[in-house]
Amino acid sequence: MRYIRYTIDGVTAYGIVDNNLVQELTAPPWSDPERTGHTFYLGDVVLQAPCQPGKVVCVGLNYRDHVQEFGKVVPDEPVLFLKPGTAVTGTGTDIVYPAMSRQVDYEAELGVVIGRRIRGAKPEAIRESVFGYTCGNDVTARDLQRRDGQWTRAKSFDTFCPLGPWIVTGIDPGNLNIRLIHNGVVKQDSTTAKMIFPVDRLISFISEVMTLEPGDVILTGTPSGVGAVNPGDEVAVEIELIGTLKNRIR
Ligand code: MG
Repeated sequence: MRYIRYTIDGVTAYGIVDNNLVQELTAPPWSDPERTGHTFYLGDVVLQAPCQPGKVVCVGLNYRDHVQEFGKVVPDEPVLFLKPGTAVTGTGTDIVYPAMSRQVDYEAELGVVIGRRIRGAKPEAIRESVFGYTCGNDVTARDLQRRDGQWTRAKSFDTFCPLGPWIVTGIDPGNLNIRLIHNGVVKQDSTTAKMIFPVDRLISFISEVMTLEPGDVILTGTPSGVGAVNPGDEVAVEIELIGTLKNRIR
């Protein structure tokens, strides 16, 4: 199933997509909502980020080829950092190039949307905690990441966390083609099978550290081929069985 958050006539709501029709829901899809009976054409609504995460937990250095391109050592446990909810934006919006930075990079990533609160996960609870999957772009001010020695500023500018276009449920995240297309040219082209720590392991590890709440998102790391963007560029994250998340740099 595909779930969206959208705006039409000034009203923002969650919806379920069924053959290009949107059925409005009374609440977020992971909270057992009803259908309100209002229906819209998908083409008539403005897509928003498909959830409003309290936190976005990101994993650094989670693809072998990306670790090699940065000349780093393969980590023996996941490297975590956070993006604030205020960095989240949807598909079709602009990523704002900050005046503080001279190098802004794209990073195509699989996003895991949490549907059930989880803490100190047991293996059975891990699968039940996942609501679905979306595309993410871990936009990074690379020069500030190097300069600061930690990543908060570089990763946290408003609009630096595009998510979307929707959440897809019921798919296996273990071997999905993931691509980044920069101004029409494929720059990243890999598979989630190349993750060092797969999704289950990440949820288990993260939930030993912090409680994951419904609507929270985990960004699972990026493959090799990251690169810089300029104002006016278009970047698209495309993941097999999910869809395409498209943004322009402003
Ligand atoms: Mg990343």
